[in-house]
Amino acid sequence: MSLEVSTHSDRRFRALIEHSTDAIALLTPDGTVTYASPSIERVLGYSPQEFMTINGFAVIHPGDLPSLAHTFQHLLAIPGLVATQQVRSRHKDGTWRWVEATMTNLVHDPDVQAVVTTLHDITERKQAEEKLKALAEQTEESEQRFRLLADGAPVMIWTSGIDKLCTYFNAPWLAFTGRTLEQELGNGWVEGVHPADMQRCLDIYTFSFDARTPFSMDYRLRRCDGQYRWILDNGIPFYTSDGTFTGYIGSCIDITERRRLEQQLQYSEQKLRTLVESNIFGVTVSDTTGRIYETNERFAQMVGYSRDEMLSGAVTWRQLVPPDYQEMQAQIDRTILSTGVMPPREKEYLHKDGRRVPVLVAGAMIDQQRGLALVVILDISERKEAERRKQEFQSMVSHELRTPLTSIMGLIDLALMQIDLRPRSLPPEAEALLGQIEKTLKRADGQVEIETRLVEELLEASRLETRKFELSVHPENLVTIVQETVANQQQAARTRHIELVLPPDELVPVIADAGRVGQVLTNYLTNALKYAPVDQPVSVRLEVTGTVARVSVRDLGPGLTPEQQHRVWERFYQVAAPEHQGPDGGLGLGLAIARAIVEQHQGQVGVESAPGQGSTFWFTLPLS
Ligand code: ADP
Repeated sequence: MSLEVSTHSDRRFRALIEHSTDAIALLTPDGTVTYASPSIERVLGYSPQEFMTINGFAVIHPGDLPSLAHTFQHLLAIPGLVATQQVRSRHKDGTWRWVEATMTNLVHDPDVQAVVTTLHDITERKQAEEKLKALAEQTEESEQRFRLLADGAPVMIWTSGIDKLCTYFNAPWLAFTGRTLEQELGNGWVEGVHPADMQRCLDIYTFSFDARTPFSMDYRLRRCDGQYRWILDNGIPFYTSDGTFTGYIGSCIDITERRRLEQQLQYSEQKLRTLVESNIFGVTVSDTTGRIYETNERFAQMVGYSRDEMLSGAVTWRQLVPPDYQEMQAQIDRTILSTGVMPPREKEYLHKDGRRVPVLVAGAMIDQQRGLALVVILDISERKEAERRKQEFQSMVSHELRTPLTSIMGLIDLALMQIDLRPRSLPPEAEALLGQIEKTLKRADGQVEIETRLVEELLEASRLETRKFELSVHPENLVTIVQETVANQQQAARTRHIELVLPPDELVPVIADAGRVGQVLTNYLTNALKYAPVDQPVSVRLEVTGTVARVSVRDLGPGLTPEQQHRVWERFYQVAAPEHQGPDGGLGLGLAIARAIVEQHQGQVGVESAPGQGSTFWFTLPLS
């Protein structure tokens, strides 16, 4: 019975061993296999018989062998000890298989006399583990890569987890705030946000986070130096490749400077707009073809068109330029194209109704590539009208004054003639009286002459303005003109000493209006005689250098400061100092007229002087 039982249980045991997925092998201390269960074929591909011809250690991976040998030695030392080790074993097909070997030292057991080793195939588990490890390594690596990238980025970067708390800030962020990562993590970063922006900032963040939508917000963040800087923060929800939401990632840049520039731009744009829309003057933006892209109401009104008409392209500003201004316009075009600016010029535009509008125009190129210019236009009709009326008045007054002056002069001459032709037989008292009257009349004559000259100058000044100043030029000898003028002046001022220095050549040919050139020299001479002390000589010099003749008048009068030298050529300018005021109280017109005459002859005028050192007034004329 006991044998029966024994046989039965033995069979059961065998069946268990033979059908188990794990293989069982019995190894002697030197590794010889004394038994291998059939499952060895499932685990390592060998049949039990084949396996029993191999040493158990021969199939172990060389890398795992030392540690296995070590464990085995240790195991052999302690009877009954159980040890487990994972090793790679070579399958019959040549591949390596992971097996978990559980070894029990039953060498001392007389029935067994071996190390009982169960071999459990863990290749799949190992592979899965390895995959997981590789994945973890990969994740770690990509995380590291991300941080490396983020730390080197020129922007500040943060990330947050699904609980909205921040999990990371890159090096630029920490450098900006001057705080540690630990201080910033979670909600720590909010401490650096300006109190006035904090709530808005949190609201946007929370709202977007819950909706999983990207956001963009600006707020002031305290920099490490304590200064609040404007930050633009762009956040986006972040998902893994399998679509799992992992939180937000955000990038921030300092936009303080940009905001300042924008504000400044806005401010200057506003300033310009206000000015343009004030309609104090006309403003247009147009190109060189004449197309108008922008215009304000003022300019439209000035030329009688509606803004729509102008902006639609129906009217170009070129159409507004009268034919006689085309040449000037071409010159303006050239200037603005080459220099980018158009200095103020007076011209006229044609009004829709055909009349002309006097304007002052100035501008600057604002887009060289497209040829766009900003032009400012000032309506000067009123000023021009006032000028015209002033000139009209001036010339009318001059004419009106001249006529009676001529008669007065004639009458005085007649009276003087009558005195001259008086009977010889007059009583001495009458003779004396007539002598007195003659003197008085001559004095009156002198005064009338001064008056006539002033009126003459006034007339000339209005001619200058209206450009009615005409010359009658002929080939002339400048020597003759100078000689005659000096002689006339000497005649009029007999007591004065006028020195004359002429060039060796007797002929200095010029094309000129002799009367006018004489007038210029007369003016220089009368001034010199008027302003210099009576006991001092005045010298007149005519020289020729190259193709230019130069006439100069030197006096030893009060002289002029540089500012006065500059201003004496202006109309109506007179030096205020008493030594500069002549006995006849001039009008300050003589030098302005002289300059206009000389310039019309293509010559130049000038003065060399210093206070207390006298003056030399000169003019040049081109030789013919
Ligand atoms: P007017 O002599 O009629 O005042 P001008 O145009 O001839 O007008 O001269 C302008 C001013 O320049 C004079 O008023 C005088 O103050 C100054 N000026 C002209 N010539 C001289 C000179 N030779 N010496 C000093 N001052 C002079």
